[in-house]
Amino acid sequence: MEQLGFQWSSMSRLGIIGGTFDPIHGGHLAAAAAAQQHYLLDRVLFIPSGHPPHKNSSHISPARDRYLMALLATCNTTGFHVSQVELMREGTAYTIDTLRLLQSWVGPDCRLFFIVGADMALDLPTWREPDAILAEAQVVALSRPGYDLSALEGVLEPARSAQIETLSVSTPDVSATEIRRRVASGQSIAGLTPDAVRQYIAALHLYSI
Ligand code: ATP
Repeated sequence: MEQLGFQWSSMSRLGIIGGTFDPIHGGHLAAAAAAQQHYLLDRVLFIPSGHPPHKNSSHISPARDRYLMALLATCNTTGFHVSQVELMREGTAYTIDTLRLLQSWVGPDCRLFFIVGADMALDLPTWREPDAILAEAQVVALSRPGYDLSALEGVLEPARSAQIETLSVSTPDVSATEIRRRVASGQSIAGLTPDAVRQYIAALHLYSI
């Protein structure tokens, strides 16, 4: 069981947001905060993916950098934590395996809330064992600028979309791709990610080539 400074068995509602976090940014933080507030979550775990099933891993920054940036971005927010659970796993880390492991840690009385942006939610049919994910956790799909959350009902089978909670909130129009693009072309990323992350990116020359 991972040691994160709290008792896994002490919670009744745990939020989980997974991502490449390359880098973590204001969109992730706003999505997590909105879900935390709306669903009265005891804690939100940010889980950087080791080998993300949806992305080509060769272009992804080292796990250590993505993990440290997530820590820098969240360490001053009560209830936000960064888990290395997927970084520790060999090979591809699938969400369903992570959810099952976390459920075994928190115990049966804690409900898991799996927080995703609209883009990820629309991709649900491509996830491994989507129905098992929907059974294991309450999937919460948040609006994201540029993606149509209301399309979910048309894209997913009715039985699946009925199990997903949608939450329309205003999250910043930012993506990690845009941050990497800006850094590579020498543009400012002020305001898109916390200052500590911005300084980390500059100090380690991430994304600059
Ligand atoms: P990239 O641009 O590299 O694809 P990303 O910005 O989409 O990255 P991820 O780490 O892939 O970030 O996203 C993790 C989770 O956060 C996903 O569920 C994604 O939908 C969600 N998310 C990312 N940005 C936002 C945003 N601006 N608003 C709401 N949700 C977001």
